[in-house]
Formats: sequence, structure tokens, C-alpha cells
Amino acid sequence: MRVKHEAISRALGVLLIAGLMGALGACGGDVAEDDGRLRVVTTIGMITDVVERVGGDRVSVEGLMGPGIDPHLYKASAGDVRRLANADLVFYNGLHLEAAMADVLAQMDGRTRTRAVTDGIDRSLLLTPPEFEGAWDPHVWSDVTLWMSAVEVVRETLTEVDPEGEEGYRERARAYLEELEALDAWVHREVERVPDSLRVLVTAHDAFHYFGRAYGFEVRGLQGLSTATEAGTGDVQELATFITRRGIPALFIETSIPPRNIEAVREAARAQGAVVEIGGSLFSDAMGDPGTDEGTYPGMVRSNVRTIVDALAGDGGAQ
Ligand SMILES: [Zn+2]
Repeated sequence: MRVKHEAISRALGVLLIAGLMGALGACGGDVAEDDGRLRVVTTIGMITDVVERVGGDRVSVEGLMGPGIDPHLYKASAGDVRRLANADLVFYNGLHLEAAMADVLAQMDGRTRTRAVTDGIDRSLLLTPPEFEGAWDPHVWSDVTLWMSAVEVVRETLTEVDPEGEEGYRERARAYLEELEALDAWVHREVERVPDSLRVLVTAHDAFHYFGRAYGFEVRGLQGLSTATEAGTGDVQELATFITRRGIPALFIETSIPPRNIEAVREAARAQGAVVEIGGSLFSDAMGDPGTDEGTYPGMVRSNVRTIVDALAGDGGAQ
């Protein structure tokens, strides 16, 4: 019965999208005036940042998901569908990150050019979580060097769609990649301040496995790879026991996920005698406010690393 309901609701969703797109010719609505720039629509903020940096003033970028938005659960509004259909180019993460937008993105095929920025990553570098057979972990931006391949995909696709801008795209991509290379080296240096035995990152969901692999942390998320999977009380107790046994001093909440689950883990660990704090808030699947340092991809990475090192390194921590 559940399967049938899902099939019907999917079919209705497709009809709704088709209807909206049919009405596009008649109403311009909230669509921006054509100013000669390439109109690009993006999903998560980290992609918006890449497109703004590489595109420069040749593109106008509209990101659908702002600060605090959870991309696993995000559903496209009617306005989003109009923006997507009117764009020259759509960039999304792929690897099933934007799970609730899959139908909408598929419907764009043949109307608007769409590209997953993770297309350029060698599949052998992707992590395959045991609980999601046949799926890859989509949170590639938590390893700066992996995210650099998204910059290449954006540069290449912008150049294909707008060959006249090639030189500018190449120059700006080169400058951004240099900045990211330096950022990656900085992360490696900073995490050295955390003793090996305390290099354990406990967060609300599994968004940091690439970070863990790249920078030498063991990673434990309460919820799995997607926030669509709810954590049970058994998971809370098990994680609390792990924290108590290992003497982990801090857990982390995430800006795009309600903090109650991680707070429940802390309470359960304290009930077992652990001395454990909330070490701060990490930008996992969304960036900070526009206009702040955390509202950029490099700034988000810096903020996360400072928060992690401050909380786990104790007195010898970040300066
Ligand atoms: Zn996530």
C-alpha cells in the first residue's frame, strides 16, 4: 500500500511540474530580467560559492538552499521550479544529496541544461556507506581536495555553454583552486593540534566521513547518511556508551539539523558518568549567512576546523 501511495504521489508531482512549466510562457512571474548574463541556478550554498567565484560577472547565480536548510529533505517550491526552468544552466550536487528534488531535476532534462558537480570525481574516491547498499556518500565538500574537482566541472560546463567567457572562467578557477589548495594545507596543519586519541568527530548525521578520511578523524554520526533516517533510542544509548568509553570531551551539533538528538546523546553519556560538552555548531550541509565569512565555502571550512580543534584539543588548542 505504501509503495502504491508513493507511486501515485510521484505521478502527481510530475503532473504538477509539467503544468507549471506549461504555464511558463504565459507568466514571467519573479524571473529576473535578461541582462545578458548567464542565468545559473544552484542547490546547496557550497555550489553557489563555486559558481560565483568561477563565473564572476558573466553569470547571475541564484542558490535555492540558504543557511540552515537541509538538502536531504528540501522540496522544490513552485517558485523554484520556475527558476530552474528559466535558467540557462543548473548545477546540483548529485549522489542523491538532493533526494526530494530528484523528480524536479529529472523533469528539467531536455529543457534546461543540468550538471551534477560531483560528476568529475573518480568513483574509486567515493565512500560507500554500508547501510546504503549501492549508494555513495554525497558529502564530498568536507574534503577540500575532493571539492576542488567540483570547481573543474563548473569551469568546464560554463565554458561549454558560454565559450566567449573561457579565459575569464579559466583565470578565476585557477585563483580559486590556489586558494583551496592553501586551505587544505591549513586544515592539515590545524588538526595536528588535536591528540590522536581525541580525533573523534561525533555529529548529528554522517556528513563528515570524507573529512575524517582526509584529515585523520574517526567519524560517528547519530543519524545515517541522510537525515531522512531517524535515530532511535538504541542508537542514542550506543553512541553514549562509545563516548563514555573513549573519554570523548565534545560532541557537535549541525546548523542544518535540530540539536535535540545530539543533546539527548550528551545527556545519556552524562548519565553514564561521562564529562562531555557540546563543542559547538558545525556547518555540515549548509553554509552560514551571506556576507559573513561562514557564508563562503572556504570560510565555512575554516569555521568548522576552528570549532573542532578548540573543542577537542583542550589547552593546547587552536590560537
Ligand atoms: Zn547530509
